[in-house]
Amino acid sequence: MSGARGTMSGARHARRRARALGATLLLAAACSDTAGPSEQSPVVRAVYLVPANRTVDASYAIGIANAMRHLQRWYFDGLGTGRTFVLTDPVVSVRHSSHTADWYAATPNGDPVRAFFNNVADDGLAIVGGRANDPTSVWVFFVDADRACGQAGAAGTSGVAVFTASYLRRFTGRVSAVACVDDPTASCPAVGAVGHEVGHAFGLHHPAACEAGTADCPANALLWLGHTTYPAAVLTTDDWKVLGASPFFRQTSPSAEAFSCSNLLAPAPSAGLRRAFSLAMRPPAAASAAAPVLAC
Ligand SMILES: [Zn+2]
Repeated sequence: MSGARGTMSGARHARRRARALGATLLLAAACSDTAGPSEQSPVVRAVYLVPANRTVDASYAIGIANAMRHLQRWYFDGLGTGRTFVLTDPVVSVRHSSHTADWYAATPNGDPVRAFFNNVADDGLAIVGGRANDPTSVWVFFVDADRACGQAGAAGTSGVAVFTASYLRRFTGRVSAVACVDDPTASCPAVGAVGHEVGHAFGLHHPAACEAGTADCPANALLWLGHTTYPAAVLTTDDWKVLGASPFFRQTSPSAEAFSCSNLLAPAPSAGLRRAFSLAMRPPAAASAAAPVLAC
């Protein structure tokens, strides 16, 4: 994970956001994916990471799946080339951690601001058998755990992105207040923040003019402040160049059915819930620690 740590920009995001912002469950597809990656072509792998003292919440998995599908469509429309990133099928893999929820924020791991990211990335990559800068996988971890305010709660770099439980709660409409000043304030900005950080994981950078503070800064760029007004945001010409050369972006047909990022659970696209997620069974040694909500 040293590569990820070296270039992560989550701390800057946290400060910038602080300035800028103020079921039906279809389970037929569950239980099949327990062995890890199966696709050989580069894909984006969304992982719902369940700490040892949490139970699987199916609505979280569906919220993640539809957030990723919303972004897949948004990038498709933004590029206009018939390409977008490719997701796994099912979109989300549910994986269990041996760590409790408070471990991620409380355990020192490098720069204190980056400790939560580093812990989730290290733990998640070990569980899935992945790594940073994996040529065949961009790993997107959603962990049902909270950071300490001041730690980066949404960050992406080098093929890995990490998001706290604040995002899961926003996806499912379970919270009205923010726990930390730079937490997402609503579902669409939460999806936009995922798009921003996953963009970093793809190799996108903040617009140079914005970093330089010049007047031609495209403030509505997704990789600047556009994530706060998502889906009203844009990709820049520099983004097009990077994504046009990315092996993760291929000719793909994302969901043709429009749905709102403001409610990721209700008007689900017909293809959306059919195979939203798969479950990895809890290891036998920990099977008695918590009863899973869903059983295969
Ligand atoms: Zn950023």
